Amino acid sequence: MKKLLIIKYAELNTKKGNIDMFIKTLYKNLKLRLEGIDCEIKYDQGRMFVTVDETYYHKCIDIISNTFGIHEVEIGYELDNNDLEVMKDSIIKVTKDMQFNTFKVETRRGFKKYPLTSLEVSRILGGVVLKNKENVKVDVHNPEVIIHVEIRDNKSYIYALSYPCVGGYPFGVAGKGLLMLSGGIDSPVAGYLAMKRGVKLECIYFDSPPHTSDEARNKVINLASILASYAGMPIKVHVIPFTKIQEEIYKNIPNEYLITIMRRMMYRISAKIAHRNRCKVLVNGESIGQVASQTLDSMSVINETIKMPVIRPVACFDKLDIIDIAKKIKTYETSILPFQDCCTIFVPEHPIINPDLETCYEYEKLIPNYEELILEAIKNHKVVYTDKYNQEKNSEFEDLL
Ligand code: ATP
Ligand code: MG
Repeated sequence: MKKLLIIKYAELNTKKGNIDMFIKTLYKNLKLRLEGIDCEIKYDQGRMFVTVDETYYHKCIDIISNTFGIHEVEIGYELDNNDLEVMKDSIIKVTKDMQFNTFKVETRRGFKKYPLTSLEVSRILGGVVLKNKENVKVDVHNPEVIIHVEIRDNKSYIYALSYPCVGGYPFGVAGKGLLMLSGGIDSPVAGYLAMKRGVKLECIYFDSPPHTSDEARNKVINLASILASYAGMPIKVHVIPFTKIQEEIYKNIPNEYLITIMRRMMYRISAKIAHRNRCKVLVNGESIGQVASQTLDSMSVINETIKMPVIRPVACFDKLDIIDIAKKIKTYETSILPFQDCCTIFVPEHPIINPDLETCYEYEKLIPNYEELILEAIKNHKVVYTDKYNQEKNSEFEDLL
């Protein structure tokens, strides 16, 4: 009888056509995330198994439970046959040190030719527990403990200790998206939620030195690093020099449209960077009605600049719910550091909440070279990887322009 961690990925099992790719991706991701821990991971018939020294169980369960695509992890036992007598012996050992008053045994047969039905196995093994443990009762409706038994053609598994995990899809199976990552609370949460649906992320940050500081920028890279820790791999961050465009906007555009036009420029640049990096969608932290630029009117006028779909995972969340998630995923403490973002400098007193598209066109003519400025910003953008963000390298796309 071998003690191990048993991983369930329930939702993946419904993805019949792509299941192989899903499982291979999950396996690869988990291997990366458990890097540095001496363990063996294998998969077989809808389960993944991790064999590791018991002293690492706590650490492994912590990592596994935060790995996208995993529904539940259990501490269990693998028997190298499905002999009923061996299972009887094993269930006595498994339950010996467990504390409970009520229980039930639930059996699942992966091996359909097994001579006994699931119910018969549960009854027999339940009887063994009753006989060998004092003061316990069966309760099929509301047991304190469920002892699971899984029967395979040449193996069986017994487990009773389960830990819930984040669920979702393995990081990367949905293709790539570009996260507009600011230093706020919302966009890291939006990124996390997209990652949870299998979206592989790159990030884009609009940097406006000297109006915004190095600290503000490092804070964004740090937020990307926290997201990267859930991916198990570095995340690429595109840092866009936005100062010139922003200054042109403030010089030329009437006050109430400043933010609308600025965000239209951000969208244009983001879509171009996404396209060049094979990102299929933009992801951002907009939430309906949170600020003037996030009313439905504003969102539609801003969105009009691009054809690419925009995913807004927190669009319908209350701020308090977003904060809750930010705390859980450990981005909150970094997000609340007080460095100014380019959206929070030169904020007009009365930004428009129902901008008009024709007016945007008129105002954008006041910056006749804005398309050149956009190309220049893209040309001069820097790519930073989260695992070594001090060693910047120049944009690899320079020669494409
Ligand atoms: P909060 O401080 O409420 O978390 P936020 O930064 O999410 O705010 P806004 O400043 O209105 O809210 O921006 C909306 C979205 O636009 C952000 O969630 C982010 O996706 C994107 N965004 C804003 N500023 C930048 C920036 N400097 N670089 C990249 N993306 C940005
Ligand atoms: Mg912000």
